[in-house]
Amino acid sequence: MPLLIIVLIVVLIWMFLTFKARQRTRDCRWRENHSKDTPEGRYFICMNCGAEQFAADGMPPPICYRDAPKTSGR
Ligand SMILES: [Zn+2]
Repeated sequence: MPLLIIVLIVVLIWMFLTFKARQRTRDCRWRENHSKDTPEGRYFICMNCGAEQFAADGMPPPICYRDAPKTSGR
C-alpha cells in the first residue's frame, strides 16, 4: 500500500508544520504598557523573551520574537 505510506508522510509533515507554527506564538506572552505608548503604536513587551514591539493596530504581535533580533533603540 504505497499510497497509504504517502498519505501518512504528508500528514506527519502537516502536523510537524502546524506544531512549529503554534509553538512560535505560544511562547510569547505580550503585555501592554500604556506608559510607553507612542503615536506610532501601542507598546507591547513579551513576558517570556523580553521582546519589545510597537503595534499600530493595538494588537499584540502574532509571532514570537525570541529568536529574532531585538528591535531596540527606541
Ligand atoms: Zn516572546
